[in-house]
Amino acid sequence: MARVCLERVARKFESTTAVEEISFEIPDGEFWVLVGPSGCGKSTILRMIAGLDAPTTGNLYIGDRLVNQVPARQRDVAMVFQNYALYPHMTVAENLGFGLQMRQADAATIQAQVQSVAKSLDIAHLLQRKPKQLSGGQQQRVALGRAIARSPQVFLLDEPLSNLDAQLRDETRAELKQLHQRIGITTIYVTHDQMEAMTLADKIVVLSRGQIQQIGSPQQIYNQPVNRMVACFLGHPPMNLLQAVYDAGSFYIQGQRLPCPARLIPLLNSAQGHSFDLGIRPEYLQVISSSEPDQTTATLETIAQLVEPLGRENMLRVVLPNSDQILNLTTKTEIYPQIGDRLTLGFDLNALLVFDASTGAIVR
Ligand code: ATP
Repeated sequence: MARVCLERVARKFESTTAVEEISFEIPDGEFWVLVGPSGCGKSTILRMIAGLDAPTTGNLYIGDRLVNQVPARQRDVAMVFQNYALYPHMTVAENLGFGLQMRQADAATIQAQVQSVAKSLDIAHLLQRKPKQLSGGQQQRVALGRAIARSPQVFLLDEPLSNLDAQLRDETRAELKQLHQRIGITTIYVTHDQMEAMTLADKIVVLSRGQIQQIGSPQQIYNQPVNRMVACFLGHPPMNLLQAVYDAGSFYIQGQRLPCPARLIPLLNSAQGHSFDLGIRPEYLQVISSSEPDQTTATLETIAQLVEPLGRENMLRVVLPNSDQILNLTTKTEIYPQIGDRLTLGFDLNALLVFDASTGAIVR
């Protein structure tokens, strides 16, 4: 096991800058997840750590060793891709032991290691099968097992679950988490799936256009996003955004007034007439009866546009009157408005996030 450290690492491909100068240090044994929209540079970062690609500038360390010039096979990292290429002519056992065999481990060591890894991934009963006799999920577990069997210092995973169907994906994700808790290898995991990021990570790195937007625990990223991009990337259904204009201690949204949270008023002294995006997570919104406005600090008048029953709850889409500004929220199943019904939504003003409309930076 080893720490992984990037010091001002950048990667350019002719005119494209895939990764701007980025720096972070992953402590030994932690599970970090790189997330961000397509093309933000996640895979390039992983490939540079693996040694499959070289930084244009900057230093990359695994443990205390500077590895910029160290070839991939000498870095002691194992990588699992979305397309787990197992060797089709080999059995599962041979696939699992292949890395050790390449390193000239003796037969007894290989056998012991293969048995142990197969047991931990629940594939011991499949050892004599060939890959084509396995389901997609089983093949993916063998690919993970093949990487683990080598006992690498660092484990690199690039969208390893994206070929699996939803249920298998959930199961394998849980297994991966337990596996990491047991073996504790430093792991870097690339995904664009925010659910995987939230559930697996010790720390999440949110990337956009080759730049780090924020590094933090899942809770920090979710509750204290530094900007609109981070706030909207994590969370399902995503954070609601309303366009508003600030004036004298209040926000105005299509003629409706929302008081500005008191903590922000001193910060907005010079922002009279400026545009802001107001962020509110769906779980903070409630349908209230308009006769009880005191129970919440802020209210918005809306019109029901769509109701989707999900069994345990309903997903509700509403629109602000005379506008195209939409809000999504979840409600108890007994709240089932007719399309076009007027609904008052209430929420705690402390849950409101305020972003500068032009830069996306959070005001706090
Ligand atoms: P995805 O989620 O779609 O896999 P990503 O976040 O992993 O995307 P990268 O594959 O790291 O993104 O690519 C980052 C940027 O670098 C993209 O604009 C991509 O087109 C560019 N890029 C990556 N590899 C090369 C290459 N070999 N030559 C030229 N441009 C490249």
